Amino acid sequence: MSHPDKPGNRARSAPGEATGTPADKTRVLLIEDSLADAAWVQQCLAAAPRGKYEVDHAGRLAEGIERASSADYDIVLLDLCLPDSRGEETWRRALTDIAGLPIILMTGLEDDHLAETALRDGIQDYLHKRGIEADPLTRAIRYAIERHRASVALQESQERYALAARGANDGIWDWNLRTNTMTFSSRWKAMLGFEDFEVDDEPDEWFRRVHPEYNDAVRMKIDAHLAGNTTCFEDEHPIMHRDGHYIWVLVRGLAVFGEDGKPHRMAGSQTDISKRKSAEIRLHHEAMHDALTGLPNRALLLDHLRSALARARRNPGYQFAVLFIDLDRFKIVNDSLGHHTGDQVLVEFGTKMRSLLRPGDIAARLGGDEFVVFLSDISHMRDATRVATRIHDELVKPFRLDGMDVTTTASIGIALSATGYDKPEDILRDADAAMYRAKSGGRNRHEVFDREMHVAVVSLLKLESHLRRALENNEFLIHYQPFVSLEKCRLTGFEALVRWMHPERGLLAPNDFIPLAEETGLIVPLGYWVLENACRQMALWNRDYPATKDINISVNLASPQLCQADFSGELARILEETALPPRRLKLEITERTIMEPRPEVLQNLADLRALGVQLQIDDFGTGYSSLGFLRSYPIDHLKIDRSFVRGMAESGEDLEIIRTIASLASNLRLQVIAEGVETHAQYSALRDLKIGEGQGFYFSRPLSVDGVTGLFESRHLGG
Ligand code: C2E
Ligand code: MG
Ligand code: MG
Repeated sequence: MSHPDKPGNRARSAPGEATGTPADKTRVLLIEDSLADAAWVQQCLAAAPRGKYEVDHAGRLAEGIERASSADYDIVLLDLCLPDSRGEETWRRALTDIAGLPIILMTGLEDDHLAETALRDGIQDYLHKRGIEADPLTRAIRYAIERHRASVALQESQERYALAARGANDGIWDWNLRTNTMTFSSRWKAMLGFEDFEVDDEPDEWFRRVHPEYNDAVRMKIDAHLAGNTTCFEDEHPIMHRDGHYIWVLVRGLAVFGEDGKPHRMAGSQTDISKRKSAEIRLHHEAMHDALTGLPNRALLLDHLRSALARARRNPGYQFAVLFIDLDRFKIVNDSLGHHTGDQVLVEFGTKMRSLLRPGDIAARLGGDEFVVFLSDISHMRDATRVATRIHDELVKPFRLDGMDVTTTASIGIALSATGYDKPEDILRDADAAMYRAKSGGRNRHEVFDREMHVAVVSLLKLESHLRRALENNEFLIHYQPFVSLEKCRLTGFEALVRWMHPERGLLAPNDFIPLAEETGLIVPLGYWVLENACRQMALWNRDYPATKDINISVNLASPQLCQADFSGELARILEETALPPRRLKLEITERTIMEPRPEVLQNLADLRALGVQLQIDDFGTGYSSLGFLRSYPIDHLKIDRSFVRGMAESGEDLEIIRTIASLASNLRLQVIAEGVETHAQYSALRDLKIGEGQGFYFSRPLSVDGVTGLFESRHLGG
């Protein structure tokens, strides 16, 4: 008696052995017409050393099929020659009508050839009737049941996998590494637009379609996995569809390694992720582009500059340029023609610039009316200035918007990589500085950033860092310049003028640091410091020299200070702490600040007025505001700018302006002060025009605290 006894199967436990419980019976359906043979089989099973067998006997196939359908069996022992069926027909019927049970055929010797066909059809095993013994029989039964279970489990798992793959819409590939053939599922092929028969069983069907830029990466990842360096293979790449476009796929795979440690097979899936990819690409695009013009934004520009700087470091022959472009008087376009037209100008300008550039160059928008052009590869500075000239020329042609012609000009600053930069922000900063130079040089021009500007920028940066520390280090002081009534030549007040005792550069005048303080916001804490110290000083003088109790202290305000939400509240606190009567404080606000009034500024002005302090317009006449315009503000004084006073002697026009200001001011009940009085002639002319007060070197230069105290002492103002 012989049967195929595969040692590989031993790893699994046979029924009866698995749990070892006697309750685990193996139920056998024996279909056998010979009563003697049936009895012998039953006897063998009853004598089996391990496990318990329960045997039901049927004499005909039909009866067996009938029984199998009404009771649970573990296995069928089937005689090949039965009264109602013989040969091939026997197992074919059994396989279809007793589906789901393992079947062992029992044959006579002459049926050997037939039996082998039966194995291919799905019969588990065959035994020669003559020679059946207890031990081999039970072993054959155990293995047949086990093999059957394994194959059912395998089939189920394959079906599950196929279902899951179909449900996930994945394509499947399977690569035999020994033969280097690769099979692809229908879904895999359909994903790329192919019919089943159009794709061969070759790995190249996949690899040659991967986008060339991704091909090396895919192969490297596969090699790494096959070398055992990664636990799985996973990659996202574009792959070419049959009609030539690319779709994005996610490919996953796993290799199977043999006992020799070498991979012999790799299989996996391919998922179409084009939709997710295009959403990702769109989001990335939005994050990197300006919504209005569609141009790259600052972030993307900085990326490009960063790689260009890296390239310039590697290759000293490589040069690029940055053009910082600011539209001139764009605010006027925006304010007079409306935001919609303003936006259109920006969009049109973006389009114009794009049309001027070569591939590889980039036009970006930083925000507002600020644009940057990155010239990716230039051989000479001339190349950059030529582009700037082309931008100027292009802007001469008007934009036609809503049937209206709008023209604008641009100021352009140019910085070249040759200057040597580490950070992209630095080259932008320098191009910006050159743009400012172009703007202050009269607009509609371009300037190239040079050594001299570099020195200026560096010293400005240094100044800024010093300025930040100067308050803590107590480096500021105040000088006081007298106001004098022109009629009686009497002291009426002082203007507090801040100075900075710079540790390296000595005493600095406000023009050297106030603009920077305004730009950096440091003017706010500095301004409070000046207010507090000037008020305290004035209160001290009032105390020590009672004759000074009617004179005023004037303090200059910058517009960022007036934009502070609770400026007036803070000032009220200062007045209270220093015990200075509010009426004694005059705040000087430049005409410029008041000409672009913001709601916070207006609110603060009203609150200050309510507090009882006086308000004075400084540098009046330089900002072209009309007196009527001023009427809507709670103003008490006008200070005529010193340029008119200076011009008074030579120009009749300046004299006329002062005369007009004086008469209109008196109608509006505003008091007038003239600043910059340097000569006796100016003094007497102003007095004749009935100007109330004057300030200037003719009376006194700004004085230190000691200088003022000396003045009081010499005039015997003490109590
Ligand atoms: P300002 O408010 O117009 O101050 C008058 C400036 O004219 C002072 O310059 C003063 O020294 C100068 N000056 C006075 N009389 C004459 C004269 O007869 N001839 C000439 N040529 N100049 C004269 P200073 O001290 O250099 O201040 C310049 C500017 O700095 C001030 O102009 C003011 O706008 C600003 N400033 C000064 N202190 C402060 C402050 O504490 N805060 C703010 N925000 N600005 C300040
Ligand atoms: Mg002033
Ligand atoms: Mg002034």
